[in-house]
Amino acid sequence: MEELETVCSYHPGRPTTLRCNRCGRPICARCARRTPVGYRCITCVREQQKIFDTAYWYDFPVAFLAAALVCGVGSILGSFIGFFILFVAGFAGMLAARVVNWAVRHRRNRFLWIAAAAGGIAGSLPIMIPTLVMGLLSYEELGAAGLATLGFGLLWPLGYMVVAVVFLISNMKGFRLK
Ligand SMILES: [Zn+2]
Ligand SMILES: [Zn+2]
Repeated sequence: MEELETVCSYHPGRPTTLRCNRCGRPICARCARRTPVGYRCITCVREQQKIFDTAYWYDFPVAFLAAALVCGVGSILGSFIGFFILFVAGFAGMLAARVVNWAVRHRRNRFLWIAAAAGGIAGSLPIMIPTLVMGLLSYEELGAAGLATLGFGLLWPLGYMVVAVVFLISNMKGFRLK
């Protein structure tokens, strides 16, 4: 009877009654991966991910540049309108995600959203440079008050960056696939 006991395919010493619902391989509780369609073995989960990871290596710099461009243009447009910059930011983030998906020809990768988010941050930074430089140059004359003004001047661009990147990430296709 001992020999008939089912053991985990990855751990020969571990008896189990659980099976992968795709290939039928016996798996122990530790090897089982919970997926939306039931418990699967590690091999099947990996194979499934390969189908989703269709992006080429150059899709990462492309995603970065596309997101940087859209977020950069948005931050310049937004800098003229004060509070409404946050609406522009949301729109720019969504648009950036669309442009990124188009630029990589809708190929996917679980990590592509990171490249896009980094691009969004990089693209939102240049608009802050004039404020920073001015603040630093006038620091001698203005002192602490000057620094406070500088901090306030950076609030909108910073808010823009956060909102744009959040919208960008949440609109990236691969983001939901973990
Ligand atoms: Zn399996
Ligand atoms: Zn196991």
